[in-house]
Amino acid sequence: MTTAARIVVLPGDGIGPEVTSAARRVLDAAASRGGIALDYVDDVVGGAAVDAYGVALRPQTLRLCKTADAILFGAVGGPKWDDAAPDSKLRPGSALLGLRKGLGLFANLRPVRVDASMVATSALRPERVRDVDLLVVRELTGGLYFSRPKRRYTTARGEAAVDTMRYSTPEIERVAVRAFELARQRRSKLCSVDKANVLETSRSWRAVVSRVGQRYPDVACSHMLVDAFAMDLLRRPQAYDVVLTENLFGDILSDEASMLAGALGMLPSASLGAGTAGLYEPIHGSAPDIAGKGVANPIGAILSAALLLRWSLNRDDAAQAIEGAVSRVLAAGLRTADTVRDGETPVGTAAIADAIVNALP
Ligand code: NAD
Repeated sequence: MTTAARIVVLPGDGIGPEVTSAARRVLDAAASRGGIALDYVDDVVGGAAVDAYGVALRPQTLRLCKTADAILFGAVGGPKWDDAAPDSKLRPGSALLGLRKGLGLFANLRPVRVDASMVATSALRPERVRDVDLLVVRELTGGLYFSRPKRRYTTARGEAAVDTMRYSTPEIERVAVRAFELARQRRSKLCSVDKANVLETSRSWRAVVSRVGQRYPDVACSHMLVDAFAMDLLRRPQAYDVVLTENLFGDILSDEASMLAGALGMLPSASLGAGTAGLYEPIHGSAPDIAGKGVANPIGAILSAALLLRWSLNRDDAAQAIEGAVSRVLAAGLRTADTVRDGETPVGTAAIADAIVNALP
């Protein structure tokens, strides 16, 4: 008898619970069709945890996640908790940072695929986005967001502030290895993005990535400066397969890349560490403006569940079953309000999830 995979479910705030419940329904159906046993454990994070327990991430939640095979995460945050200080444990977003740091999730993966039937929804012209299929791999636990010193202080000449960008070779190496491994499973092309003409950390990044690349002679490795890449991503996004970059550049570029697909609600993400356990979440936030209305697009969350099957449970077949079902439902013209075109009638969150369950092979 095989043991069931342990999935910790953290729906969070706003539309988090709605899209997570839709994703769980699809995950359940795909797992049962694929003979995969899942054992769910539910917990509370973000603003919901602040309200219930006075802290966005409880130590026992982190401990629970450390025992999980994967975490299915919704979204956190909302105006109710916006007044908490930036570094406070009362900030819903601190739950995500705590999970990433506490679980050592150093690689953030954001696949951007523009489904054939969604080409018209993109912010770019159809010929620019047709067949886009790229994967941004962003370093998630180092660089400018975490390095010390990081503070504001007063000098004789007034206020000053400092952030620090530091990367060690092992930090660069481990995310580069992950990106090269992923490139191998795709079209074997990797573009590393840096600012090596100005930054020492980038010169180090480029040297380490090149060195790791020598271990992957079957993967074509190139390097680009971040400013040139930001332009080229809009000019010829089809040219890219795996894009590897550090934390700050990745934060910005992955949002830019997501606009190729047209709507925030469509895109999934994964955060992985050294093992196979990972955290899977749609790229969007808690969307307080539409929370509780049953209209949120659950496809980003549903595709995150597909990534969970692929990268944490090693079941590419079940992941593809979900991705295929999503494509078929989109091809049939079903859309939530964020992606309908003129004259089309939107359907709700639950209806899209039902249709995807029914479209599973
Ligand atoms: P957002 O992604 O929540 O919403 C931006 C816009 O996109 C809104 O108009 C929203 O209605 C729409 N939208 C987002 N997801 C959608 C979906 N699935 N279906 C249909 N429409 C969707 O970003 P925001 O408004 O900047 O942030 C709202 C809250 O979410 C803030 O508290 C922010 O801190 C938080 N946030 C959380 C995460 C996370 O948990 N990972 C990420 C980003 C923002």
